[in-house]
Formats: sequence, structure tokens, C-alpha cells
Amino acid sequence: MKVLVAEDDAAVFEPLLAGLRRNGFEVRHVIYAAEVPGAIADADLLLLDLGLPDGDGLQVLREVRRTSDIPVIIASARGDETDRIVGLELGADDYVVKPFSVRELSARIRAVARRRRFDPSLDVGRLVIDRTRRSVLLDGGKVDLTAKEFDLLAVLAEEPGRAVTRHELFSRVWDPVWIGTGKTLDVHIASLRKKLGDPALIETVRNVGYRLAVE
Ligand code: CA
Repeated sequence: MKVLVAEDDAAVFEPLLAGLRRNGFEVRHVIYAAEVPGAIADADLLLLDLGLPDGDGLQVLREVRRTSDIPVIIASARGDETDRIVGLELGADDYVVKPFSVRELSARIRAVARRRRFDPSLDVGRLVIDRTRRSVLLDGGKVDLTAKEFDLLAVLAEEPGRAVTRHELFSRVWDPVWIGTGKTLDVHIASLRKKLGDPALIETVRNVGYRLAVE
């Protein structure tokens, strides 16, 4: 996923670009508002600082929205509540308040991407997962899963090949504030693998979590 970062403050963008790359994003960077409309064609998401040297970020957003549906997260200074509200009204998908952590931003980027590409049907290799009917077909045959097994598989199937951390799986399938370690997740994964009949479909990523195998 390619993230275009429009940010002029080196103290912000230097650690941010490095951090996003560490988190697995491809990153493009521009400093000036005037560069944004031309650069979005090659990006999957725009992180837009509202205070750019040559123009108002909200004006940039207005311009971007005339031609593009690209997901946008705005970055604003603490206290600029009005700007954030206007930004959302102008079609931003979400916002972060400075200072924000790369971790928080990465989670928001993934959440925005998930909401945007929400398609009830996930067709991944041998699996077809229907999130409205909560049904799973493997090679065309129905697989009966418990609610938690289904939720785990649906999260893994959103992005086949991406290692999903244990923390993300726990927080999305069980409890948003879950912290720590536990066997529950491994037990559910073991059961899910057994029902799918092919343990290789769900790979263990040592010390990280799990991922759906890419064929
Ligand atoms: Ca700025």
C-alpha cells in the first residue's frame, strides 16, 4: 500500500517516513500543497498536514476531492478542532492529532483502508468468505465455523500474506483493550486449521502472529 505523506516539518516527516516504511507501507513524500494533486495518482492513501507552507490543507483537500476518491487522513495540531470537523465534512476519512505515534497512524491507515474496501465477499484462492451471510466455502464446499473462528479467518483474509499480529487478532476478534498473551487464540487457530483441512492455509509467523498463505 502506497501512502503519500504531505508534511513540511522535517521533525515530523523524518521519523514518520521511516516508521511507516518499517510498518510495511510504501511511502511517497511531498512538502508543498501544490504538489499534492499531481502526486495522488500514484498513491493509495493521503496523509495530509493541514498547515503546508504554500497553502491551506483544507483547500488542498477540497481540490483533491474534486477529482479523486483517495482515502485521506488529515494531521492537525492539537486544538484545531474546527479544522478537523471541516476536514471530515470535506471528505477526509479520519484525522490524527499531533503529536501522533507511527503505531497509531498505521492502525488508522489500515482501518480506513478496511472501511473503504469493505466488500462482503472475500474471494481468496481456494476460499470464498461471505461476511454478510457469514459463510465460508473451501474449494466450493461449505465449512462450518464458530463465530470466533469465522471472525479470525475474515481478518486474516482481508490481506492474504500480511502477518497479522496476535494483538490485532485479539483486539479485533475478542476485546479492543485486550493485552497480554494467551492460549485462546492458538486454540481457535488450531481448530480453524483442522476444519479447513489444510494447516498450511494459515501460517504461523513466529513471535508475531498469523497470516493467510498466498497461493
Ligand atoms: Ca506543517
